[in-house]
This record gives sequence, structure tokens and C-alpha cells, in this order.
Amino acid sequence: MRAETHRFRPDPRVTLFSGDSRTTGAADSLLALARVVIVACCVRCVNAERDDDGEGLIEHAVVIAGGGPTGLMLAGELALAGVDVAIVEPRTSQALVGSRARGLHTRTIEVLDQRGVADRFVSQGTAHPAVSFARTSLTLSDLPSRHNYLLALPQSRFEEILAGWVAELAVPIHREREVVGFTQDDGGVDIAISDGGSLRAQYLVGCDGGRSVIRKTACIEFSGWDPTVSSMIAEVEMRDEPELGIRHDHNGTQAIGRLEDGRRFGIVVSETYAGQTGEPTLRDLSRALVAVWGTHYGVHSPTSISRFTDMTRQAAVYREGRVLLAGDAAHVHYPVGGQGLNLGVQDAVNLGWKLAQVVHGTSPEGLLDSYHAERHPVAARVLQNTMAQTVLTRSDARTDALRNTMTELLTMDEPRRRFAAMICGLDVQYDLGEGHPLLGRRMPDLELLTADGPVRVFTLLHDARPVLLALGEQALDVALWADRVRRVEATYRGPWELPALGTVPAPAAVLIRPDGHVAWTGDGSDRGLAPALTTWFGSPTSVA
Ligand SMILES: Cc1cc2nc3c(=O)[nH]c(=O)nc-3n(C[C@H](O)[C@H](O)[C@H](O)COP(=O)(O)OP(=O)(O)OC[C@H]3O[C@@H](n4cnc5c(N)ncnc54)[C@H](O)[C@@H]3O)c2cc1C
Repeated sequence: MRAETHRFRPDPRVTLFSGDSRTTGAADSLLALARVVIVACCVRCVNAERDDDGEGLIEHAVVIAGGGPTGLMLAGELALAGVDVAIVEPRTSQALVGSRARGLHTRTIEVLDQRGVADRFVSQGTAHPAVSFARTSLTLSDLPSRHNYLLALPQSRFEEILAGWVAELAVPIHREREVVGFTQDDGGVDIAISDGGSLRAQYLVGCDGGRSVIRKTACIEFSGWDPTVSSMIAEVEMRDEPELGIRHDHNGTQAIGRLEDGRRFGIVVSETYAGQTGEPTLRDLSRALVAVWGTHYGVHSPTSISRFTDMTRQAAVYREGRVLLAGDAAHVHYPVGGQGLNLGVQDAVNLGWKLAQVVHGTSPEGLLDSYHAERHPVAARVLQNTMAQTVLTRSDARTDALRNTMTELLTMDEPRRRFAAMICGLDVQYDLGEGHPLLGRRMPDLELLTADGPVRVFTLLHDARPVLLALGEQALDVALWADRVRRVEATYRGPWELPALGTVPAPAAVLIRPDGHVAWTGDGSDRGLAPALTTWFGSPTSVA
């Protein structure tokens, strides 16, 4: 049964966000311009078709609730694939109150590199050679990636640059309003907006953060563990000179540092969780300072104070019919190890091309189930490692003994490489069955040689289309998928080195999904290629 359908009422406050539109050079500028033109044409075609069909009530193929890191990345992926997508976002800009993520991990920089935009972020951040696990520093310099570093970049800056890319791709952002509810039926989703208007879409994706209205409205269970620790993060002034530096106690990490302006201080202070809810006040902060340092140092004039806990939960399902969840809407955990934003961006890259293919009708809806199947276990593992790290940030005799033992292990090369790859998101292998070690893993960014000259693998993925890389002499026919899959003949003589695994045998061919994961490897024949193409990129087209 189709529920009542509403037409979205245009509102003058609807904005096309115009953020950072810098590109890395003339070639990038031209490419970006070409993409905008292509995408704008695709979007126009989609709407025109619908109007001709009398289906004009569907205003967007996909609506994303939430324009944070996950929603923006997903919008970019969908727009690149020519999908008519819009974001609904309450914030007037990407500015954030208080401090959140401070860095990008290797796999996140790699997925941005796969779209040709990594330089925009890298040029604005600072590279650090290590990540940490439970206070132990893990060097990244021997990880086999072009981006084997942690890129320090504040979340608000990350969001601004990402929003700039999304604006170039002509994605509308309906700002200063939020999704307040929805109903779904066989043909789409009616989405109620806080200004009293509504939108209709084929799919709705909840990227609306940990308190997700989309998840709650869809009645998706959010199971896990209640908080044990509550932390405040604040930027303040202090009358007295505080003790600068980091302390560890039974509640975890406590820190005071001077901010860049030399006048204000950044504070992280943790307390045992005792039901603290709502926005913290200066009085709460002052009490917590006294509990840890014995004085509040005359704290005053806060620019921001916010609270977060180690509540650890995950959505039981990432899809309920035409409604999907990604990012913090699907999983929350303590920010130890700095993984949350990175995880959400990578959810988006897994979901984007699949949703695009379903919207375009090239793949059946069942492809969307692989999104849950692949990404749910990845987040479940992050939830486990953050719970372990949260315990290990505490300090008492027994916990110190456990952490020292762990540190001893992590100074050995093999465990260090494994844990570094885990934190950086480089060790993910989707379960695509038995086969070559590359199957289901991310394709390394090899320097290939083609008839047109040298090219990097990631460059071949800039337009988010699948690539069949033929590295040998064998005949690999993709004619029946030629409208979707690009075939590239190349040679590569170097080693195939995978993070956490080491060197693996060279495959004769590789089928690469738009998210950079390997869907099939060749052994010199085309055995299994047609089924893999059909599974991931839809049925073959008939040739006249
Ligand atoms: C103190 C702290 C430090 C952190 N440090 C790190 C770190 O170093 N590294 C890291 O990777 N992660 C870190 N994180 C986690 C990171 O901030 C989050 O994982 C990340 O912001 C999740 O992105 P998201 O887009 O999924 O959700 P959010 O960033 O929460 O974005 C959700 C968006 O949805 C919008 N929204 C909300 N409700 C609605 C609605 N009803 N309709 C429409 N839109 C709505 C919001 O305005 C927001 O823009 C940290 C978090 C905290 C609190």
C-alpha cells in the first residue's frame, strides 16, 4: 500500500553549499568541471524521465539525513554515479561546536585518493608517522601504502573541504531543517521535514549521528553496552596557571594543554559515569577539575564544553526496506584511537556505488544487503577494540600491568603491523569466499604501465566505476558489461604487498569494485569472471 505522498515545497532557505572549491591544479579543475557537467546532465535526465512517466512526485532518488562526514561522503559517491541525491541538514554550515575528530587514517585518505581529491585534505593537514593503541605508539612507516601516516586535520576543516567537493558535484543541501519522521511503502519513502514540508525519495539514508531519528523511527535495535565513563572536552580561560600535560587515573585520560592563541586552554577530563546527561555547565567542569587536580584553576569564559561517554552500541541491521543507516547512526563508541569518523566515511564508500546501481536499475535491491553483510562486522570489531582501549587508558596497578604486557607485545614488528593496519582500516577483508588473498581486500595503489603510459590504480577509480585490470595475455571479455565496467590492459612487474599480510602471489587479472575492493582475481583464465560481474555489477546486457 502506498502511503499519502507529499510534494516538497521549495523554500528560499534551500542552499547550494559553496565551501572550499580549491583544486590541486589545472587538470584537476578541468576534471572537476567535467564531472559537474556530466552529473548535472545525469540528474536532469533522471528527473525528466520521472516527469514523463508521471512519477514527478519523487523529488530525489536518494535523500540523506545528515550532512556530517558520512552524509557528505555518501552524497559525493552518489552524485559521482549520476544519482539525484539531496542532503537534509540542521546546521547552517559545517562549523562544529567543540572539538571532535582530529585526524584521518590511512584508508580514509586512500578512498579520497581513489576519487582524486586526497591532495585537498593532505595539503591542509599535518602528517604524523604513528597512531596509538592503548597509549602505545604504533609506527606506520613500513605499511605498504602511499599514505602511511596519520593526517592531523580537525573535523570541521575536513567537513568544509568535503562539502566543497560535494558542492562541485551539485548536490543540494536543505539546510536549517531536519528530518522528523518518515513512512515507507513499496515505491519509496515520504520524509517529513521540520519546516512542515516533506520530500519523497526512493531511498532514505540516516547519516544523522548517534541519536539518529532515522534509526529510532525505523525501530532498529541499537544494542550494546551502557557507559562506564563520561568525559568533558572544553576550551576555556583560567585565572591560575594550570599544570599542563596528561595524567591517567582510574577514569582514564586527563589532560590540560595550551591552545594556539596562547591564552586559552584545552581540557579533557573524565569522571565515572553516574547518569550524567545533557549539556555540561561550567560548574560541572569546575567540579571535575577539582576532583582530578585538586583545584579548578579559576576556570572561566568557556568557548565550548561538551560531553561524550564510552556508550558502545551498534544497529542490529543497517537496512530496513528502503531505509539505510551509516556512520554514527549505525555505531557509537568511545573516541579512543580516533576511528569513528574514518569508519563512517568508509561505510559511505561501501554503500554509495551499490545504492547507485540499485537506483539505476542495473542491480537488484538484494545488492544492498551486502552493505550490512560487509560493514556490520567491520564496525563490530572497532567496537571491540575501543572497549579494550578504554579499559587500557585507565591507571591502577592491575590495569598498568595488563597495558605493559600489551605494550611489550606491540613493540614486536608482527603484532605492531597488524594492530596498525587494524586502526588504519587497512586490514579489512570482505567475505567474498575462498580464493586469492586479495579477494575482498582493498586493491593496492600500484604503478601500472599501459599503452598510454604509466598510471596509478587509484587514478583508474576516480570516476567510481568498476575496473577489470588485465595483467596477462589471457582473453577477458567484458563486452556484455562494457556499459558499466572499464577494461584496462596493463603490466606490473613489482611486488604485491598487502598490509598485515605481506607479499602475495601476483594475480593475472583483477576485477576492482568502485570502492577499491577486489571482487575477483584471475589465474590465467576467465573462470568465475562472469558470475562475479553479474553479482556485483548486474546482469549482462544483450548485444544486438
Ligand atoms: C570528543 C570526540 C573526539 C573524536 N575524535 C575522533 C577522531 O580523532 N577520529 C575519528 O575518526 N573520530 C573521532 N570522533 C568521532 C567522530 O566525531 C564521529 O564518528 C563522526 O562525526 C561521525 O560522523 P557522522 O557523519 O556519522 O555523524 P555526525 O558527525 O554526528 O553528523 C550527523 C549529522 O546529522 C545532522 N542531523 C542530526 N539529526 C538530524 C536529523 N534529524 N535530520 C537531518 N540531519 C540531522 C547533524 O547536524 C550532523 O551534521 C570523535 C568524537 C568525539 C565526541
